[in-house]
Order: sequence, then C-alpha cells, then structure tokens
Amino acid sequence: MSVWEIMDYELAIIGAGPAGYSAAIYAGRSGIKTVVFDKIGGGGLALVSPKIENYAGFESIPGSELMDKMQKHAIKYADFHFIEEVKKITKNENLFTIETTNKSYTSKAVILCMGTEYRKLGIPGEQELQGKGVSYCSTCDGQFFKGKNVAVVGGGNSAVIEAIFLKQIGCKDVNLIHRRDQLRAEKAIEDEAITKQVKIMYRTHVESIHGDQKVDYLYLHDLTKDKKYNFSVDGIFVSIGEEPQNALAKMLDTKLDEKGYVIIDKQQRTNIKGVYAAGDITGGLRQIITACAEGAIAALTSTEVLGKKYPY
Ligand code: NAP
Repeated sequence: MSVWEIMDYELAIIGAGPAGYSAAIYAGRSGIKTVVFDKIGGGGLALVSPKIENYAGFESIPGSELMDKMQKHAIKYADFHFIEEVKKITKNENLFTIETTNKSYTSKAVILCMGTEYRKLGIPGEQELQGKGVSYCSTCDGQFFKGKNVAVVGGGNSAVIEAIFLKQIGCKDVNLIHRRDQLRAEKAIEDEAITKQVKIMYRTHVESIHGDQKVDYLYLHDLTKDKKYNFSVDGIFVSIGEEPQNALAKMLDTKLDEKGYVIIDKQQRTNIKGVYAAGDITGGLRQIITACAEGAIAALTSTEVLGKKYPY
C-alpha cells in the first residue's frame, strides 16, 4: 500500500495561533488537505494580549478579537481539532504519525506552530501562590485586582503593556519591577506607561513571594542601594518572556538553537524533510505579523513534499 493510500491528511499543523491560522488559510486555499490541532481553543499567547497596535490594518485591537477574526477565517480552509493535544509524533519513511489525546492520524507534511509558554521566575512562593495572587496573564486575572496594589515583573513589551492595562482597568498602584536600569520595551509603550503613572522600579530583583492563602508581600532586593525589604502587594504578574514549546520538535529530531527555538531556513524548512516550523517556535522577532508570514511561507513550501505544484 502506498503512503498516499494510508494517509489521513496531506498536511498537519500543530498549534492554532497566528502562524497556524495563517498556514491553514494558505494550505487550504492551495488545495492541500489539512488538519490543525490545538491543545486549547486556539489563539496562542496573542489571545490574552490586552491590545495589539502593530498588526497592520488594525490600529488597536484586543488580542482576543484579532484571534477570533483569524479563527473564523481559517476554519473555512482546514479541519480544526481544538482541545486535542498532540502527545507524540513519529516519522516513518515519508509518513508522519500523530498521536493525540483522541486518536492517531497520519500526514505527509507537518508544520510546527506550537509557539511559546510563559517563563517562570523560579523563586520561592511562585508556584505555591499561583492562582492566589501570582498570575502570568493580566487579561485573564486583572479584574480581580481592581482597586488593589499590584506588581508586574519584567521590562519587555509584554510587561509594560500588562502594567498599562492593569492601570487602565482600575488597579490602584501598579509597580513595574525590572532587574536592569533600562526597559527593553519600545519607546512608545514606555512613554505610555509613564503617562499612565505606572511606577517603575529599576534594578530590583524579586527574591521571593509571601502570603498565607494569598499574596501578601514580595521580598525585594534593590540593587542600587543594595537593600533588601518587604514590599506589600495584593498580586504579582510575572511577564518575563517566554520559552519555546519544543517537546514535539525534539521528538522529530529537528535542530534547535541554544535557546531551544527550532532552526529553519528562509522557506521555513527544518533539518527534517517534510517538517516545517512557523511563528514564535522559531524565535526571532516573535510578532503576530511575522508569525502569519512564516505560516504562509511554510504552507506553500510544504507543497514540495506533497507532489503538488507550488501554487504561486
Ligand atoms: P522579552 O522581550 O524577552 O522581555 C522579557 C523581559 O523579562 C526582559 O526585560 C528581561 O530582562 C526580563 N526577564 C527575563 N528573565 C527574567 C528573570 N528571571 N527575572 C527578572 N526579569 C527577567 O519578552 P516579552 O516582553 O514577553 O516579549 C516577547 C516577544 O514578543 C518580544 O519579541 C516582544 O517584542 C514581542 N512583543 C511585542 C509586543 C508589541 O506590541 N510590539 C507586545 C508584546 C510582546 P532583561 O531586559 O534584563 O533581559
């Protein structure tokens, strides 16, 4: 029996964030029989971004709204399996077997779009008080802290946007705690934080998080004064970047860089024939617009192993 006779799908896309949605649109429109798996309901980390102001065509849009639009568009072109996690993936000759929480599928090509997950501080109290004042998502949990004092840890775009959002929804004092003397965030975002009266604490480390049933205070180290002290807050939002979700990439023996991101060429090919990667899992700029572009390129490049003519 040939590969084509036992194949369920020509292309399997793993992860339904911006890269996965875009790959599905381009694959489906090119006549590729495509399946998309997502362990939750799709949208990736962009889903919980309070607002996005640099996706061309949308001056300002909540991440949830943009992801909703992308999902409505993409589901026209592929079979989407939401809340179905891929647990194992193997390659045998030119056929991939994809084992999910539901069943097993086969495909001739795979695009890895699993994105990233929130990085943890790894300090005492963080795990114990998660959901009791320790959060990684202001959009999800910010409402619980209206009128209360919170801290946001980090100095990148995400942390500063989270801090602005928390101020906007009515948190009392929003303290941005950053380990260096300079933010990593874009100037426009930093300026907005200052205008919105986010308090920025530079050169400060959070050493531990304390509280009995809920967060009560943080133990901070002010590096400038070399002083350690307790700092009272009701909640702490950790926004210190992301880690690639690369477990499936490792199963396929795709090459990773030193930070664990999948290494790709300009056509989104990995080192394994038939395996492509797109979006945040490939590292680099990690923007929604670049994830979409990478998804489109990966889908069209995958035609090379599908015996199909490159459509454009
Ligand atoms: P990021 O840019 O990697 O910034 C992470 C921040 O956390 C850095 O300031 C870093 O400090 C700090 N940090 C890392 N580990 C830490 C630790 N253990 N303890 C304390 N602080 C720690 O991450 P991000 O802000 O999540 O953004 C991820 C990507 O998405 C970036 O490419 C970003 O540009 C993009 N993004 C863009 C937008 C936008 O609207 N343009 C919005 C959100 C995200 P250092 O500065 O000292 O390294």
